[in-house]
Amino acid sequence: MKQTENDLKCVYRLDSEYKIIFVNEFWTLFASDNHADNLCDQEVLGNSIWDYITDRETVELYKAILVKVAQENTVIRFPFRCDAPTARRFMEMQVSRLPNGSYEFASVILRTESRGFQPLLSAFGKKGDDFIRSCGWCKKIAVPPERWVEVEEAVQVLKLFNQSVLPQITHGICPHCQGKLLAKLGTIKCQPNT
Ligand SMILES: [Zn+2]
Repeated sequence: MKQTENDLKCVYRLDSEYKIIFVNEFWTLFASDNHADNLCDQEVLGNSIWDYITDRETVELYKAILVKVAQENTVIRFPFRCDAPTARRFMEMQVSRLPNGSYEFASVILRTESRGFQPLLSAFGKKGDDFIRSCGWCKKIAVPPERWVEVEEAVQVLKLFNQSVLPQITHGICPHCQGKLLAKLGTIKCQPNT
């Protein structure tokens, strides 16, 4: 655990209509790796959060989280990963409602592990037309048939090593994370899409 990173808190806030009204300076650090790939800086202010989350299951889960926070006046915390090409970042998100009715998403790094450079996770390098699916919460990658594995294993299983053109990554949610979140939310909404 790195003390220097413990203090970093990545925060954004939504108004009651789910428009982005605040992002802090650390948000830009993590935005490109998080669920919302295009949330990069102050330019996002005033836009709807749903403009930036494309995966339907993730949208439904976020909505369920916001509804629960609002209706029960509670705080919801859940772990997630926000990895970099050379690091696994184990993080925790806390979603709460502020007295003025806005919603706050605050993420902190719990710990970081170094890893060998993973070109698949790099924003640089040539990407082809193929897509692979990554869980936006635990960052595991879907490999056939119906398995979700760490990126290092995915590279082996999908035979991506030494390839000059790598697939692009889209985000979804794996059954394990979906089950955990639904249990936390106490809801049977958000069944997997067929
Ligand atoms: Zn997952």
